[in-house]
Amino acid sequence: MMEVKSHVKMIIFLIWILIVPFGMWYAFQSYPPHLSGRWLDAFAFLLLTCLVASMPIVINDMFIFLLQWVALAVFLEFGLFAEIVMAQIAVLVLLFRLGVLYKGQMYRLLLNSNMFFLVSFFSGMIYFWLGGQTQPKVTSNNYSFWHVALYAFLYYFINQIIFTIHLYYVFNRKESFFGKSLFVETITTLITFPIGFILFILYNQVGSSAILFVGIPFVSLSIVFKLYYSSEKINENLQKAAEIGHQMAERLRVNDVIDLFFQKFNGMMHVDFAYIFEAAEDHLKLSRGMEAGRVISVDLPAIKKNEDLCGLVWASQKAYLFKSRKEWEKYSKGYMPDGAESVLCVPIMRNNKVIGVLLLASKRKRAYEKYQLMIADILCSYFAVAMENAKHYELAKMQSERCALTKLYNYRFFENILTNEFEKLCQQERKVLSLIILDIDHFKNVNDTYGHQSGNEILCELANRISNITGDGGTVARYGGEEFVILLPDVSKTDAVKMAELIRQSIANWPFTVTQSFDQEKLQIKITASIGVATAPEDAEDYLALIRHADRALYVGAKRAGRNRVAMYSK
Ligand code: GH3
Ligand code: MG
Ligand code: MG
Repeated sequence: MMEVKSHVKMIIFLIWILIVPFGMWYAFQSYPPHLSGRWLDAFAFLLLTCLVASMPIVINDMFIFLLQWVALAVFLEFGLFAEIVMAQIAVLVLLFRLGVLYKGQMYRLLLNSNMFFLVSFFSGMIYFWLGGQTQPKVTSNNYSFWHVALYAFLYYFINQIIFTIHLYYVFNRKESFFGKSLFVETITTLITFPIGFILFILYNQVGSSAILFVGIPFVSLSIVFKLYYSSEKINENLQKAAEIGHQMAERLRVNDVIDLFFQKFNGMMHVDFAYIFEAAEDHLKLSRGMEAGRVISVDLPAIKKNEDLCGLVWASQKAYLFKSRKEWEKYSKGYMPDGAESVLCVPIMRNNKVIGVLLLASKRKRAYEKYQLMIADILCSYFAVAMENAKHYELAKMQSERCALTKLYNYRFFENILTNEFEKLCQQERKVLSLIILDIDHFKNVNDTYGHQSGNEILCELANRISNITGDGGTVARYGGEEFVILLPDVSKTDAVKMAELIRQSIANWPFTVTQSFDQEKLQIKITASIGVATAPEDAEDYLALIRHADRALYVGAKRAGRNRVAMYSK
């Protein structure tokens, strides 16, 4: 559901204040309830109202609220004011039942109170204006059928108008008046109007036991109806789940898979918070979290098995569903977002092993139904497969692109970037392209003195230093053994030389720390490097020439001239 802006909420409040209290007072003065001696009956009607209001049928986010029939009987029997009051109580019960009255959502109460009030009030007023009457002037012996039918029609029609206006102005949903909701509303009115009518007549004949005669079949019917729709909905959700499974399988990136997973969940159930935890050896670690539709970066402490809600799900390999905070509070010791009420926590299994845990939460109470647990479970198994594939893909890609030791790009991948950049240069999308090439001085001696392992450590540290200096401005790659290249798009030769000088100093001025393998002792080793710089198009017309010329600058200009220096190519 779309978030309603705060000024709209303010307007809703103002309209409510202006209309409802005064309107209620007016209705009370002009059409006081005919209660004389019938307090118990009125109470029985109220109970029926609450019962019916507490069992709405929710289809596609739209709740069908079969209250019109009780409203009709109450109106004819007890008058306008009584009907207004019952409808208002029904709103309260309904919203409470739907669990939508959490922080920041109270405006819904006023909004619905307003809508119901307007429908009650106008239907009643127009009915009276057209000559309709309520008890005691009207009884089951002297009612005018057409007036009663008219009331039912007014109720239906005004409700539809007000509903459409609200969708438009409050939720910005431009749905046509003759849309799906009109259809549903028409059907339900056709069903409920005769029932209300029967209740009215029967009540006059047999008294309040009429409520049982009509109420019991109606409630049973709503239950059957609800069961039918939930099985429809399960089918629909299963289909969607399969579709989502295919879509996830197509994504190659781990984060893309997770994002799609979250996004699709959001479309299928009410999700305010979503977290994926990954199972490591002995703990669960948050791998991605989403709050209010945005990826969050919180550093959650690792969760042990059996600890906290997720740890419990991990250990028991069972999914859990909680309807409200009260239910999960006793399990949860760790992080839980503010305002979370309903919680769905599902193990993500692969080959009978829990590889992660999904935690979904909603600010609504009773937001999730049992069947959604099953859907979540199915989605999680699709997710597990998609994740495994994506991880394999990412790993394979990483291994093919990067050097295992320094994690820098390898030369093969660098060559791709270089040719691409050269292409851009030719197409004049880039003005210049500089290349720095670096070779450690006398590295063989380092290896001979401190061992190959220490040499490796130096290479890693050096890779970090270069990457830090280059930042996003260029691409660093390992060119060969102890040689590195840096590609700098749109960096002039002068600036490239400056950067090379910075790199040279960062190597020569700060010793490298290595750990001796036999005694774990830390050693500081001083090294230097020689650097060559060339820039296209001034120094080279193709990418191979650019490398060759930078290399030439390195050997001729820097190494031969005494090492530990930067040289640029000159013809
Ligand atoms: P200079 O470049 O100053 O002429 O002397 P150098 O000793 O560095 O000479 P050269 O570039 O010819 O030697 C490269 C040495 O780098 C040879 C090899 O022992 C070492 N080396 C290459 N790759 C690795 C590696 O992955 N790890 C370690 N530890 N050493 C490597
Ligand atoms: Mg070398
Ligand atoms: Mg060398």
